[in-house]
Amino acid sequence: MNEEIGFDSFGLHPDVLDGLAAMGFRKPSPVQEQAIPLILDGRDLIACAQTGTGKTAAFVLPLIDHLIDLDDRHLSALILTPTRELALQIDQQIEGLSYYSPISSIPIYGGGDGALWDQQHKALRQGADLVVATPGRLWSFMATGNFQFNRLRYLILDEADRMLDMGFLEDIMRIVARLPKERQTLMFSATMPDRIRQLANSILKDPAQVSIAVSRPADKIEQMVFQVMDERKLEVLLALLEEFPFRSALIFCSSKDKVKQLHQTLRKSGVVNEAFHSDLEQQAREELMRGFKAGRLPVLVGTDVLSRGIDVDNIDLVINYDVPPDPEDYVHRIGRTGRAERNGRSITMVNPMDLRRWKRIEELVGRVLPWTERPLCGWSGPPLHRQGRGPGGGKGGKRPFYKKSSK
Ligand code: ADP
Ligand code: MG
Repeated sequence: MNEEIGFDSFGLHPDVLDGLAAMGFRKPSPVQEQAIPLILDGRDLIACAQTGTGKTAAFVLPLIDHLIDLDDRHLSALILTPTRELALQIDQQIEGLSYYSPISSIPIYGGGDGALWDQQHKALRQGADLVVATPGRLWSFMATGNFQFNRLRYLILDEADRMLDMGFLEDIMRIVARLPKERQTLMFSATMPDRIRQLANSILKDPAQVSIAVSRPADKIEQMVFQVMDERKLEVLLALLEEFPFRSALIFCSSKDKVKQLHQTLRKSGVVNEAFHSDLEQQAREELMRGFKAGRLPVLVGTDVLSRGIDVDNIDLVINYDVPPDPEDYVHRIGRTGRAERNGRSITMVNPMDLRRWKRIEELVGRVLPWTERPLCGWSGPPLHRQGRGPGGGKGGKRPFYKKSSK
């Protein structure tokens, strides 16, 4: 990457540059460096880059730049994204980057009660420059109301692969059918399977392509992998939490039931943690996210609902309590750490039955990761924290911060 390129080289409006400075973005990330000039040029675009590489600002900055000097404000851009968490995050990033600009945006997402529906309905009626929406909820509004999308000029599909995984193809196609044909369309995805190319062929016009890397975890993530029998996992997990100091940790399990179970078990062991899965009400999810972001909640146990796109800085530890069935999910899960310029560590527990799955992950990430040896995992010997190896261990039991004082 060219070290010389700064945000000022794109010719962005001074108010946009001020927004960037306020957000603390000093240098464009590689995907921003490549995508921003193409978008400013008016090209349709398909961009593939792993999570955490700054795709949001790559499309938000040119949008703000385009819209900033419009005399006549109206709904100009629609951003479709798979989850309410992402809709809120993108909306917040727009708010930050357009702090010095007269740009407005509204998030539209599902869940919640009738009051939320009414509030979103009203917001849509009143209008904004940008709408950031999940496809299902937006279609519910479009199907029932006569919202004006006829002056829309920009359509962005964020996390397109995830939207298709979640079954949003039909909603997306219905929405697109109601949008003006004369528009600029941008598509962002962490992966580029065939069905994404097909979708791109059907809704983009002569798109430019930006591909930053095949899905590979960022180099800043130290990936560790342990061979552990299921019945020893909890013990190993507790020892590892003590061995590796962390501020915020995510622990992934492949099913809701496992998440709920591990959450309870950890709680009984004194680890302050909460469970994050699709059974939770939206309000509860947001509450957990706020606590986690603010550092009040040190450990979050979750399904892959957590693994895509959630943008929380300062996650320094990601633990895969089991091996994800889909190798791509591994990349998404560990991509929750090592965000932006930070370092992170991931730990994956592999039981003998998951060895085949693990091999597929190694193929995807393109390298063989050496097994980390620990006495515990060799299925013999006392736990690490009783040998005085970890920071919290061996010296008469200094209580780690993430543990309750009494249970
Ligand atoms: P992606 O959509 O590719 O997963 P995001 O757009 O959510 O990634 O960005 C990941 C993180 O990096 C966010 O916290 C964002 O604020 C930060 N970020 C993005 N671009 C920059 C930049 N140029 N400089 C510093 N931080 C950035
Ligand atoms: Mg994103």
